[in-house]
Amino acid sequence: MALYVQKYGGTSVGSVERIQQVADKVKSFRDQGHYIVVVVSAMSGETNRLIGMANEMQDKPSPREMDVLVSTGEQVTIALLCMALTARECPARSYTGGQVKIHTDSSHTKARIQNIDVDNMRNDLDKGRVVVVAGFQGVDDNGNITTLGRGGSDTTGVALAAALKADECQIYTDVDGVYTTDPRVVDNAQRLKEITFEEMLEMASLGSKVLQIRAVEFAGKYGVPLRVLHSFKEGPGTLITIESENTMEQPIISGIAFNRDEAKLTITGVPDVPGVASKILCPISDANVEVDMILQNVSAEGLTDFTFTVHRNDYGLALDTLKHVAVNLNATGAIGSDNIAKVSIVGVGMRSHAGVASRMFDSLAKENINIQMISTSEIKVSVVIDEKYLELAVRALHSTFEMDKPQTVEE
Ligand code: ADP
Ligand code: ASP
Ligand code: MG
Repeated sequence: MALYVQKYGGTSVGSVERIQQVADKVKSFRDQGHYIVVVVSAMSGETNRLIGMANEMQDKPSPREMDVLVSTGEQVTIALLCMALTARECPARSYTGGQVKIHTDSSHTKARIQNIDVDNMRNDLDKGRVVVVAGFQGVDDNGNITTLGRGGSDTTGVALAAALKADECQIYTDVDGVYTTDPRVVDNAQRLKEITFEEMLEMASLGSKVLQIRAVEFAGKYGVPLRVLHSFKEGPGTLITIESENTMEQPIISGIAFNRDEAKLTITGVPDVPGVASKILCPISDANVEVDMILQNVSAEGLTDFTFTVHRNDYGLALDTLKHVAVNLNATGAIGSDNIAKVSIVGVGMRSHAGVASRMFDSLAKENINIQMISTSEIKVSVVIDEKYLELAVRALHSTFEMDKPQTVEE
């Protein structure tokens, strides 16, 4: 008898029929004698629908009210799933985040889980009930409803698994595992049998939305066995592991991640003197804009160009701020583009192989794709390119690094 935390995403609970299918599946696990805690998302499209309505009410709705609103999506699904389970003679009980007591800090819309009270859940499990918890939400010290950021139900799942010391946290979704890249972009992307936490963390933070970053962080920190599976198709899925056992057969590149969520800004002709980077970036951070990649050119005749990327939602604000900075610093101008994309190759195998970056650049050059910015870490290389070449770049890299072949390792 095992204890599983099973998280079902938005498309998996996207209609009454799908919720009934999930109920059949959960019941079959319970009938095998397992203890089951289910975490559900809102029905697909519901969170976006709620956000859309909020934006019709007010320009910038307060984060507290946003959380009161968007948390309702998950509340609908927990109740419906419990009804479907009860109709199948499978005793079940629903809990909102506040009812479990998933304690978070007070950063509305991006709260962090601080601790979880497991008593209610344990009590129900001991009585033979399936516990159904609303993902994505918690409660702060003052009883305010909080939410954990988009995709946050993954984090609820992993956090409950850690708190309950579950045997496995299973993330059920609309793909049958983690792939070499988004299978919606590359047809012959291959399912990975396993991927390390480190690689999965890079993939998630570089744009692969199959798992929320915080969920991977949590799983790594608390050693939660984590698996991504298809909700309605049988299969082993992908296991997120501490370190691959089979390092000899480990591919150099495990995956390609990409995102279209960034914009690029450049301040040109800035005097190249000590302190200039801070004079440019402090006003940006004072405007509450986070910076990702940064590039400063060598100076010519004492002047330099300085480029950085920000989230696309912050582009307008960042450009206005930079224009002021340009005036204050006597720079020649401030320009930007929000038609860019970031493509990254990720793999722990890079540590022991030279020449990975140059293979990447060569592959992009052959497709005539200009690289605008580069950043590297021990296990990833990222480039910024024109957004219109994104899919071409991902496909080219997928084939250059021979990721089109099915994994040979036995299941
Ligand atoms: P859920 O609603 O179940 O949380 P998501 O839409 O958040 O599902 O995540 C699943 C989606 O992630 C897939 O449909 C797929 O298009 C996308 N995805 C992006 N990168 C990858 C990847 N490397 N492997 C698998 N899926 C990926
Ligand atoms: N419903 C939330 C969202 O759409 C949380 C989740 O699905 O994980 O972002
Ligand atoms: Mg998701």
